[in-house]
Amino acid sequence: MPFCCLRANGARASQEMAMDREGRLALIVSVARTMIAHEDELTRLDQAIGDGDHGVNMRRGFEAVLRDAEAMAELSPALALDAIGHRLVNCIGGAAGPLYGTLLLSLGRYAGHARTLQDWVIAFGQAIEDVKRRGRSEAGQKTLLDVFVPVHAILVEKGGEAVAQLARIAEDAAEETRPMRALRGRAAFLGERSIGHVDPGARSASLVLGVVGRVLCEEK
Ligand code: ADP
Ligand code: MG
Repeated sequence: MPFCCLRANGARASQEMAMDREGRLALIVSVARTMIAHEDELTRLDQAIGDGDHGVNMRRGFEAVLRDAEAMAELSPALALDAIGHRLVNCIGGAAGPLYGTLLLSLGRYAGHARTLQDWVIAFGQAIEDVKRRGRSEAGQKTLLDVFVPVHAILVEKGGEAVAQLARIAEDAAEETRPMRALRGRAAFLGERSIGHVDPGARSASLVLGVVGRVLCEEK
């Protein structure tokens, strides 16, 4: 049995999504390990247009998550998201900590009664709005929002079909930040010189979403 049969049923957004403890643990551990494994790449991206700490920031945050993964997996999805969000806010320095923290804390809050993929996609959209408020930012400014916003739009349009392709969709969105000029965060200080580089936060966002897509569609 796949964790939630998303691939098999394509775009049926009204389908219930149940995830057991094993599934939650696999998701938390996979996201954390992926982020830790990509530290060097995120460092290089942030060295190009920031201060080079995004890799370390994300590794530190997700190492803290990994330490508590077993306990977090015991919780309901909403409470687990809340716990992960708090861990990230406390352990990730810089701009990314509060922004990822806001995304997960808000997702946990809005997804309290989520049962279907559609419910989760709506909650994801509401959480993105909170990130925008927190960062005083929007899509098009070369930030992690340039992954979250277009990916959310595709999820609204295509449902489970998009979940099965989440890694590719998110990677393409991150790559689209390359020609953008940064208007938020440290990269904005570079002006025109921020053009030609993928945004580090957009890349880390694409990694998170890619893992979520893969784990949700995995066979048990
Ligand atoms: P810092 O910029 O404080 O060094 P990080 O390097 O960990 O923090 O994170 C940088 C990333 O955070 C950027 O690549 C960008 O995606 C994101 N970011 C920075 N400021 C904002 C903002 N105001 N709104 C949305 N995302 C932002
Ligand atoms: Mg940085």
